[in-house]
Amino acid sequence: MSDCLFCNIAAGGIPSNKVYEDDQCLAFHDIDPQAPTHFLVIPKTHIPSCGAVTAENSAVVAHIFEVISKVTKELGITDFRVVSNCGAQAGQSVAHLHFHVLAGRDMTWPPG
Ligand code: AMP
Ligand code: ZN
Repeated sequence: MSDCLFCNIAAGGIPSNKVYEDDQCLAFHDIDPQAPTHFLVIPKTHIPSCGAVTAENSAVVAHIFEVISKVTKELGITDFRVVSNCGAQAGQSVAHLHFHVLAGRDMTWPPG
């Protein structure tokens, strides 16, 4: 079994609080929410970060953004922020591409 946490969550080996799932991606609630709504969307294939997106694997990224649009609508969320941290300095702690979807409170800019 892979030692990647999110590969294991995608495979169902580690439980998650699912928001949405299809053959390409999984959305689940963040274990340490930073907003009233905070879920993550991950590709089921292992891509280490935004910095590893290429012409060969980028279709799933477009798909994930379609899913974010659909799921937020279903949840009645109109205002939200999508974040993907790439690299330790940017705050990435899990080396499997993921998009944070945050909503339900005022957001500040620039992010810290
Ligand atoms: P990042 O720090 O941008 O790489 O985001 C990783 C996110 O994964 C953090 O917000 C963590 O709270 C979240 N996280 C870590 N482990 C789990 C888990 N088992 N289930 C759900 N979210 C998790
Ligand atoms: Zn992985």
